[in-house]
Order: sequence, then C-alpha cells, then structure tokens
Amino acid sequence: MSFREADKIPARRNIITAVASYSAHRPDLIIDFKQRCGYCNDIHIYRIASFEIDHFIPRIRKKKPFLSIKTDTDYSNLVYSCKSCNNAKRNKWPTDDENIPNRDDKGFIDPCDIEYDSQFIRLPNGQIRAVTKLGDWIYKELRLDKPQHEIIYNLEQLDFIIDQLEPNLNKLEDIALYKRITNLLLKYRAYVKQLGTV
Ligand SMILES: [Zn+2]
Repeated sequence: MSFREADKIPARRNIITAVASYSAHRPDLIIDFKQRCGYCNDIHIYRIASFEIDHFIPRIRKKKPFLSIKTDTDYSNLVYSCKSCNNAKRNKWPTDDENIPNRDDKGFIDPCDIEYDSQFIRLPNGQIRAVTKLGDWIYKELRLDKPQHEIIYNLEQLDFIIDQLEPNLNKLEDIALYKRITNLLLKYRAYVKQLGTV
C-alpha cells in the first residue's frame, strides 16, 4: 500500500511568474498540491485557515544562509503545508548544501518527488508509518504520528462514503427518517464548512 493515492500526489507546474511575495502563489499551490499538505497529505477542508506555505529549502538558517536567490518566491521551492508540518520543519536542513536535501538517512525529500511515497505507508486505520530510515527521520521530525493526521484521513474517507450513500437515501420508504438523515447531513456539512474557516 503506497502512502498517497495517485490522484493525491502533488505536482508543481512550471510557474515562473514574478511575484512580490511568495504568498501570492497560494492559489496555484492549492491546485498543484490537490488541496493537501505536501508532507502529511491531510486535506485542507477541515482546517483551511491554518494551512501555510513552506519553503522546502529554508530561507533562514542559524549558520550561514544559503545564497540561492530562488528560495524566497521561487515556485519550485514552495510546499503547501499544514501548520503542524510547517512548524515542525521550520529551518531544519541537515546538510550544508542547499542542493542536497538529505544525506545518510537524514533530511527531507521534496513532496513532489515520487520518492517521497517510498518512505511511508498508510495503514488501513489511517495512521502513517515510515518504512525506510530516511522516512523514519522525516516521520519523527515532522511529527507524522500526531493523531490529527489519522483523524483527518478517516474523516475524508467517511465523507467519501457519505457522498456515495446520499443519492440513495430517497430509496428510504420512511419519509420521516429520510428527512432526519438529510437534515443531519446538512448540519454536518455546514459544521465542516465552518470549521474550515476558523
Ligand atoms: Zn502536514
């Protein structure tokens, strides 16, 4: 079982538009990252207001900063990221070379790189597991063990099932029951939508 399903793997377009601030790339990142955090693959609908933009190669370092000018607004260096992964990753970069994201099983892999998928699996219960040494390093550094990743994965699965079932509700012969269930779903969806904006 691979970590991400094919339609949930991010793919950056080659966007070279000059922008004043990297945040101007947010709408394009949302499209290219399939509305998901590049690192944990959480979909943003349940907490969109807390999704951020990570610089894969960090802009700021305690040691000498990397010289590359591409690292601030260059689209190819941006990752749509949940707050949890972005905060955990911060300016970590274990190698001294901005062009070498990992070495000796320490460091990162660009989430748009297909190799990212080889580092983890998704268990049927929604938990993420590392399956390589490098994956294990990333897993611990980004706190991919946090329950929120499992919960959001399962919520998304449940929503998918609800979407499949909903068109069949009109087969219910008990009209009162039909009304109760559809009202429940309306309320549920309104809360999910609201949650996304707080
Ligand atoms: Zn994340």
